[in-house]
Amino acid sequence: MNKMMKTGIELIAEERQRQIEKEGWTPEHDARHDTGDLAHAAAAYASAELYRRTTSPGYNNTPPIWPFESTWWKPTPENRIRELQKAGALIAAEIDRLNALKALDTTKLHACPFCGKKPYQGRDKNGHHVAKCYTCSVQMTQDREDKLEGLWNNREQINGI
Ligand SMILES: [Zn+2]
Repeated sequence: MNKMMKTGIELIAEERQRQIEKEGWTPEHDARHDTGDLAHAAAAYASAELYRRTTSPGYNNTPPIWPFESTWWKPTPENRIRELQKAGALIAAEIDRLNALKALDTTKLHACPFCGKKPYQGRDKNGHHVAKCYTCSVQMTQDREDKLEGLWNNREQINGI
């Protein structure tokens, strides 16, 4: 291999960094993709070549597995490595998201009172503290974290009656 050539893992790390810095795909942002969309998007890029080969020549339509708006689908048939780099970075993002979920185990928020799933805890763009269940779309916003925790956890008791 050419000494100047970057390895797969280097390219993926670079793309992941770009996603965070240029696209703003922070852990808070990625937490919203709670149905595994990031991995599905990765699969779409990873198998883009297969889609092209098994359909009509020049086919660059959005693959059925692509989970986002079709305008976000940006294949680069002329640069297969670029597609694989994106796929790898999306997998890394999904791993980070799942790790962040695990880290939530330290949250003081109780499980969602409606579905029993762990709520997302983070901040909105105004810096307010947010507790949200992405399964039920239940959301609570407070200016202080302790207030948020108190209200969210108290609601669970109220609903438990
Ligand atoms: Zn819920």
